Amino acid sequence: MRLLSFLGLMLLPLYANAMDLQFDAEVSPGLRDQVLGDFRSIELISGERASSLHQEIFGPVSGSTYLRWFSDRVSYFGLSDCGSPSSAVACVDPQVKRKIWVTKNYTEINHPQIARVMTLFHEARHTEDQNGNWPHALCSIFFGEKSIWTGQSLRLHAACDRTPYGSYASAAVMLHNISKFCTECSSKLRQDADLYSRDQAKRVSRRKARLRIRDDFQE
Ligand SMILES: [Zn+2]
Repeated sequence: MRLLSFLGLMLLPLYANAMDLQFDAEVSPGLRDQVLGDFRSIELISGERASSLHQEIFGPVSGSTYLRWFSDRVSYFGLSDCGSPSSAVACVDPQVKRKIWVTKNYTEINHPQIARVMTLFHEARHTEDQNGNWPHALCSIFFGEKSIWTGQSLRLHAACDRTPYGSYASAAVMLHNISKFCTECSSKLRQDADLYSRDQAKRVSRRKARLRIRDDFQE
């Protein structure tokens, strides 16, 4: 009995941080719990099928696939202003491997759970140094979309993508597949995933890449 309760105590923190994510000391317990809770919310996702881009980037629509994909890329989580306190939501530093930081725009602006997950997966894609960290392109001076997170204009900001494989596109493909194919998700989660995936897909500015995403969304 004593052994069981000891094991129970040992298993609890293991389950709580199945991601094995290491949090910096300044990350509050509340934020840490929120992040781990967000991952737990996607753990049970299961999809009847996946689009071809999703299959190529992530594999099947499945919580365990997402958690493995993320843990393969990220081990450390910190807080920063990312050099742009007014507009940045999260960032990576290519010199610091396997680490992502979130800003006050992440912690203090209220967004749906799947939108927070999307941001973390966006940053995880940026950790891929074998792919040059998928750098963003400048949005044109005519770009009319605003940040869904901060409401700021994105004109002439490095907040667009030219490829269907970059951080905006891959996160959009992930959420779009969840919105369409997840059989376990609540309608609220699917609606949020649809809203944010369509928004992030607009950040793909090169015509050929945009058409690839459009076709993928129709699969
Ligand atoms: Zn980015």
